[in-house]
Amino acid sequence: MNKTYVVVGAGFRGFCDAMQLLNAGHKVYIIDKEPFFGGISYSIDLKGFAVDKGVHMFDGVPAALGDIVTEIMDGKVRTIDFVSVSAFNGKLTDGFSLPDLSSLDEATKAQITTELKALAATNGSARTPKNLTELLEDRYGKTAGHIFAGIFRDIYNIDANVVQPDAISKTSLGRLKYLDDPEMVALKQSSPFLDNVLAARRKSMGKVDDFVSVYPDTGEAMRGWCTRAATWLEKKGAVMCLGENITAIENGSDNITIVTDKRRIEADKIIWTNDNTQALAKTLGFEFDLNDYISGTPMLFAVMITQAKHIKDFTYLQNFNPEGITFRSASAGIYGNQITSEGASFITCECPAAIGSIEWEAFKELHMPIWEECKALGVVSSDATLLDHAVIRLPSTFKVAKLGYDDKIAEFSDEVRKRNPRILFRDVKPFFRRDIYLDSLHLLSLVA
Ligand SMILES: Cc1cc2nc3c(=O)[nH]c(=O)nc-3n(C[C@H](O)[C@H](O)[C@H](O)COP(=O)(O)OP(=O)(O)OC[C@H]3O[C@@H](n4cnc5c(N)ncnc54)[C@H](O)[C@@H]3O)c2cc1C
Repeated sequence: MNKTYVVVGAGFRGFCDAMQLLNAGHKVYIIDKEPFFGGISYSIDLKGFAVDKGVHMFDGVPAALGDIVTEIMDGKVRTIDFVSVSAFNGKLTDGFSLPDLSSLDEATKAQITTELKALAATNGSARTPKNLTELLEDRYGKTAGHIFAGIFRDIYNIDANVVQPDAISKTSLGRLKYLDDPEMVALKQSSPFLDNVLAARRKSMGKVDDFVSVYPDTGEAMRGWCTRAATWLEKKGAVMCLGENITAIENGSDNITIVTDKRRIEADKIIWTNDNTQALAKTLGFEFDLNDYISGTPMLFAVMITQAKHIKDFTYLQNFNPEGITFRSASAGIYGNQITSEGASFITCECPAAIGSIEWEAFKELHMPIWEECKALGVVSSDATLLDHAVIRLPSTFKVAKLGYDDKIAEFSDEVRKRNPRILFRDVKPFFRRDIYLDSLHLLSLVA
């Protein structure tokens, strides 16, 4: 028998879960407190362009999801053939989005090799890492692990000692490269452990998976997908309840009622697809605050407008130089097909900055140092002119789990289940769109 489900959260997680339920023939309501569909994927308007808040794409997603995105976009997607660059210690490396430590001095690199070989001899460390620093050391040895922990600190604005080891999955620190490609390949081939932790250029490795990377091609950035995805779900029968606040959740003997400031919905189950634990707890009548267990990674976010012809032919560059202002710079205007009739387009730069720091406070004056760094890194050509710009503050981008987070979230899930088994609090661990989509494929068994 078909059932009625309420999906709370119109982000990508809500999209995937709603799609599974609709495909199985169920009635679905989607509630979001914001008046738009898409959550953090929804682009904002800056200086006449549609701009994603960071680099957002359907990158490395299963072909089936790529097909769904393409169907929603009526074919108007472009395949992203990743051209990434990384910068570390003043050296630029093409084809990598992780730090390339090969510009370190020979003695340090020899030390890294010694430590890696020791790890390989025992097939990795025997201990279970208690925090991210230990994980990095267990994967790459003390020397490289320490360098990576420093990079993590600089970007994520928090010490790797106090975050859970799984924070690595949100970073570009999942593999180590510290030698030239042939040497990396030889080391990789010398042990299964090293094969797992070391990186070599994809080109030299051949195609490694069947995933696809696509991006909306309508000149509206990710928002182009968000608006069409909402309509697509509606055509499948979803009822959109956007811009509605949940005021109560009432238990019934054989159903659950969710009350918003605009309607009451009687449902079989509520699928809570966002990480707003505080709001769910409050509605269920208990206090819960995860804020002490999450670090939000504040960033200054710059949009730099220049002539498209001056923008490097790349997808993004990740800058791991400790003294750098910018972290990730992306050719968002180019891959998003946003070039004005005068030939202007834009790049975006994510710039780590602690809330309250000098940079954070002086964000409006930071555009010139950011621009100069973009020129120095070759993100734009040295003769490029900055036509216009906007720098905004994003207090929370990548959410990193601090030590104790997993226990706390398990405690929360138990409490929600105890109070009302008709509420399914979704696993918030899957992070990339690929993983969120794959996780949603199990939803029907969870709600059965
Ligand atoms: C800067 C950045 C860049 C990223 N880039 C990529 C990338 O390139 N590729 C990739 O695969 N992944 C990327 N990710 C990860 C991926 O984008 C996210 O994991 C995913 O989009 C999160 O979707 P979500 O639905 O969980 O959250 P959100 O998009 O945040 O959606 C949650 C929704 O729930 C709503 N909500 C919250 N509380 C309530 C409430 N009480 N009542 C009703 N509604 C509520 C919110 O308004 C929001 O719309 C990136 C993440 C970040 C932060």
